[in-house]
Amino acid sequence: METVQELSAQLANGSTTAVKLAAASLDKIEATKNLNAYISVLNERALQRAKESDERRAAGKAIGPLDGIPVAVKDNMCLEGTRTTAASKILENFVAPYTATAVKKLEEAGAIIVGKTNMDEFAMGSSNENSYFGPVKNPLDESRVPGGSSGGSAVAVASGTVPCALGSDTGGSIRQPAACTGTVGLKPTYGRVSRYGLLAYASSLDQIGPFGVCVKDAATMLNVICGIDEHDNTTSTRPLEDFTQKLDEGVKGKVIGIPAEYFGKGLDKNCKAAIDTMLQNLEKEGATLKEVSLPNISHAVSSYYIIATAEASSNLSRYDGVRYGYRSKEAHKLFDLYAKSRSEAFGKEVQRRILLGSYVLSAGFYDAYYVQAQKVRRLITDDFNKAFESCDVIASPTMPGLPLKCGMNESDPMAVYLSDIYTVSLNLSGLPGISLPCGMAEGLPVGLQWIGKPFGETELLSVAAATEKLNS
Ligand code: GLN
Repeated sequence: METVQELSAQLANGSTTAVKLAAASLDKIEATKNLNAYISVLNERALQRAKESDERRAAGKAIGPLDGIPVAVKDNMCLEGTRTTAASKILENFVAPYTATAVKKLEEAGAIIVGKTNMDEFAMGSSNENSYFGPVKNPLDESRVPGGSSGGSAVAVASGTVPCALGSDTGGSIRQPAACTGTVGLKPTYGRVSRYGLLAYASSLDQIGPFGVCVKDAATMLNVICGIDEHDNTTSTRPLEDFTQKLDEGVKGKVIGIPAEYFGKGLDKNCKAAIDTMLQNLEKEGATLKEVSLPNISHAVSSYYIIATAEASSNLSRYDGVRYGYRSKEAHKLFDLYAKSRSEAFGKEVQRRILLGSYVLSAGFYDAYYVQAQKVRRLITDDFNKAFESCDVIASPTMPGLPLKCGMNESDPMAVYLSDIYTVSLNLSGLPGISLPCGMAEGLPVGLQWIGKPFGETELLSVAAATEKLNS
């Protein structure tokens, strides 16, 4: 697949047009329909916008590197006038009345949204098998999952329908599918990108970020979508940076932290070997490897699932069968209306999480679970702060092994929760992280995750770009 940079150069020198790129993208979506990466395809809208982009360019008013580039957006982000389902029956026919800020910024930069991508229902899952619209297939090996919950966006990029896409990451949902599909996935620092118009799963953990075929494209996307937003008061007031600025800086003099806890038991040995080789190569390029410790990390998954489900149970209370979305036809009393609408239209995993979240917030259990989990969250953040006193970035696997086999979500949901081990701690601490391909194991790409300091995306992307060079 050509990169954003390449396509943008072709648009600039006139060897292609935005209409041609959009048409090719739509054809490719049709040709790869079996992968089930898209929930809605926006044919007419995309072609119309592409025509406008070409007109802009002809008038000498092209906006920037994304003008005329086809992109895909996860279906939990609102796009005015189009269906936004979060892959749930409860929003099957919901048409968004406004556009999410990150999506709006993409369109203002001239990007052409060709479709809304499939996902785990309400972004709950790591395998993309929890969608009301059916699972997404991994184009690299159809017997394995593409990772979740932004599996549709990852596959949209990996299968060549678009060069880049937006996903959301609450506990790893950008980084894991990136690892499973051999693409680049970036979860920015909490507060870097507005969450306005993102259908909330767990508000203190959710963050929108880009997928791309290369690090530079992810940085280019971040340049466009980040920034303060009056609609989301958790967005940062920091001045904007150009994230593509230091991509050629290399790793000379950088100190890479290696958490002992991340490279021991539980990590597939072929994946470990691929990452070790990369780390040795980075050392040859002038980086220093330094062991660091994250002593509380073993509690990350349990505290994450308490906090995430607690917030989800509150966020999802708005789907009551009254205000919008699915309404049961079987209900005759008010309480029945709530219960039946929610029971009929939320999937199994979503119901499981609402139950768990309501339980950990209930009187009598609140202190034992929710408060305790918040304390662990603090300890994990302190661990990272301490580790970053002696290193610039931290290296980690993205996943404990190769992409899971299809069906494990049903047969062994616990194994699926545990596959979040390396990713959830960044969301608990608000840190940025990027997953990119690093060697192969059993013919499949291995994901390496770089963890950055808060708002340290420029440095993070610079190290990622150096890694990418060594991988190719
Ligand atoms: N697998 C995690 C969960 O199901 C993370 C999902 C996400 O990042 N949206 O909660």
